[in-house]
Amino acid sequence: MPSESSGPSESTGQSALLLSARGLHKSFGDNHVLRGVDLDIAPGTVHALIGPSGSGKTTVLRSLNGLESPEAGTLRIGDLELDLSKPRSRRERAALHRASAMVFQQHHLFPHLSVLGNVTIGPIRVQGRDRDEVVADALALLDRVGLREKADAFPSSLSGGQQQRVGIVRALALQPSMLLFDEPTSSLDPELVGEVLAVMTELAGEGWTMAVVTHELGFAREVADEVSFFDEGVVVERGSPDQVFGDPREERTRRFLQRLQ
Ligand code: ADP
Repeated sequence: MPSESSGPSESTGQSALLLSARGLHKSFGDNHVLRGVDLDIAPGTVHALIGPSGSGKTTVLRSLNGLESPEAGTLRIGDLELDLSKPRSRRERAALHRASAMVFQQHHLFPHLSVLGNVTIGPIRVQGRDRDEVVADALALLDRVGLREKADAFPSSLSGGQQQRVGIVRALALQPSMLLFDEPTSSLDPELVGEVLAVMTELAGEGWTMAVVTHELGFAREVADEVSFFDEGVVVERGSPDQVFGDPREERTRRFLQRLQ
């Protein structure tokens, strides 16, 4: 699991926010996709981002990770406050990379690398960590998700669920402070969804801080500590799963949930 220098062990207490985004605005051409999004994530909590397709959830997640550059907004990570509209300094880029690692909808594994190669390339090449240590950590992580014996296999020989579990291990191997999941099960056949959600549930139980864009509302209801409902580039409503799913305050939330029943 996470080393001493990362992951849940680094949590500073439930009250301090691990990450706090304010006033995110992002357009793609004429399409004003984020219209002033705020998001707070406390250490050791799971925050589910739900809402209709195209409402901006993925763009928010990518902004937290530095994969998108909003035109406006700030991001506070620990003591560091980044103005997202400005080019990032080296120190800010490093802080963003340490803060989170992303699990993508399509796992984006390198087809020409083994499972072990996929998991270790980031820590070795990008983070410059010791190869033997990285390999030992990677094998332990693969063991945890039941894929130790697939270390030398190539991604194409794995099922979609196994590939996605490797995607999760790859993110864990980077020893981030938090994990960002972008619809991690939506490209999977229904029978493979459960094994990936099981790994995510286990990580949540271990205290990992997670932000999860998901259409799996059952998972969000059971596992999340907080839910943000997005529509048309804003957070319409946020609250506990019981409140948002059981007693939504906003009409738009009610309509969205009714459509899915
Ligand atoms: P969600 O995750 O809620 O489905 P997204 O954040 O993926 O929403 O997308 C929000 C809107 O932004 C959509 O209209 C989508 O087409 C648009 N969009 C997202 N990424 C890009 C991009 N790279 N280029 C152009 N439009 C994009």
